[in-house]
Amino acid sequence: MDYSKYSAIIVGSGFFGSVIAERIASELKKPVLVIEKRNHIGGNSYSEIDPMTGIEFHTYGTHIFHTSNEKVWNYIHKFTEFNSYFHQVLTTYKGKVFQMPINLETINQFYNVNLKPYEVDDFLAKEKAKDKFDQPPRNFEEKAISLIGRPLYEAFIRGYTMKQWNKDPKELPEFILNRLPIRKNYNESYYFSKWQGIPKDGYGKIFEKMLSNPLITTLLNTNFFDIQEKIPSSIPLVYSGPIDQYFNYKFGRLEYRTLHFEAEVHPYEDYQGTSVMNYAESSVPYTRIHEPRHLHPEREYGKKTLTIKEFSSLDDGTNPYYPINDEKNSSLVKKYREEASKLNNVFISGRLGDYKYFDMHETIAAALALFEDKLIALVSV
Ligand code: FAD
Ligand code: UDP
Repeated sequence: MDYSKYSAIIVGSGFFGSVIAERIASELKKPVLVIEKRNHIGGNSYSEIDPMTGIEFHTYGTHIFHTSNEKVWNYIHKFTEFNSYFHQVLTTYKGKVFQMPINLETINQFYNVNLKPYEVDDFLAKEKAKDKFDQPPRNFEEKAISLIGRPLYEAFIRGYTMKQWNKDPKELPEFILNRLPIRKNYNESYYFSKWQGIPKDGYGKIFEKMLSNPLITTLLNTNFFDIQEKIPSSIPLVYSGPIDQYFNYKFGRLEYRTLHFEAEVHPYEDYQGTSVMNYAESSVPYTRIHEPRHLHPEREYGKKTLTIKEFSSLDDGTNPYYPINDEKNSSLVKKYREEASKLNNVFISGRLGDYKYFDMHETIAAALALFEDKLIALVSV
């Protein structure tokens, strides 16, 4: 293959790589090559149809598109419309179902009280006073207890977090908890975002459209490291794989959590009444059960339903999903970022490249910024 005819080489066809490729082809009208080691485009946001039920599911875990970033929302609308799906999550604790994120209904049901919103602060203050901290919260556990008190933390957060991260929550950074709103009213939305929904024709179609420009060539089943030596170093390279792998793990391996899924088909139209049911207790081995038919209320699905149990474990290097931003990994990634900043013509980014817990809209925003700030000037010449 003649790599020299491409104006840029992109490693990875998830949102990061696909946005960069699409921008270079559509805006700069230059040929670009996308290299993807999997047998499909779309990275972890990929979706497919279950052959038994005809229900669309998200191969790497349920993905809800949500954003308050108008630029990202306008950009993604070039490739899809969204349905009116509104993300709500429930959690099962000791055989009872509660609202998650924790809201007034969760608090009232858990304590068997009937508080009004204006009474919640005083009520929780008494719970929080049982654990006095002398300084601002330094980790995930302290942050959670300082927000909701120990009993709610122990019931809904601790067990789930231990299953998800297999770490003591004292070793986890507090920012993970910022993803989870805590509400003193009955608002059931999982997100703070202004807009949300599921792509009407599925995520797969977004990537097909993004990469459909004839100036884009996509090579599936191709590992960048198998062909790296053949690629001229004069061509700008955008790499959205794991940053430690790019540097051949020279400072050591970054840790990731991975997931595995167990799918089941049931002879009912509706198994659990909602798209995601979390399981709070550490004695239940899975973190959540997905029921993807609920993601598309506008579609007519048949009489059977699909459920998918999600299990979390440490990645062995095969399927990195979640960066683990504890102290050890954060200082390791710093070293790799310093190495990356010394590279000429090579940009390492995306969820795995930045080793950051990016949602899709954040990934798209980061890709648009790289394109505008660096690549336009570099690739246009
Ligand atoms: P990825 O999607 O991981 O794509 C990277 C691509 O690079 C992959 O296709 C990989 O195969 C390829 N690659 C890596 N190394 C090589 C190599 N050496 N050669 C060739 N190809 C290579 N976001 C939301 O907004 N809402 C959600 O509800 C949501 N839920 C999530 C649930 C789970 C379980 C996970 C893990 C993530 C979730 N996300 C969600 C985040 C979302 O998946 C990411 O923001 C997005 O996938 C990041 O895109 P990316 O392109 O950076 O990385
Ligand atoms: N979390 C929890 N209980 C829940 C849901 C989430 O303790 O029922 C915590 C957990 O630590 C998790 C974090 O909040 O890692 C962020 O949750 P989110 O649903 O955003 O995780 P994701 O969808 O990215 O897996």
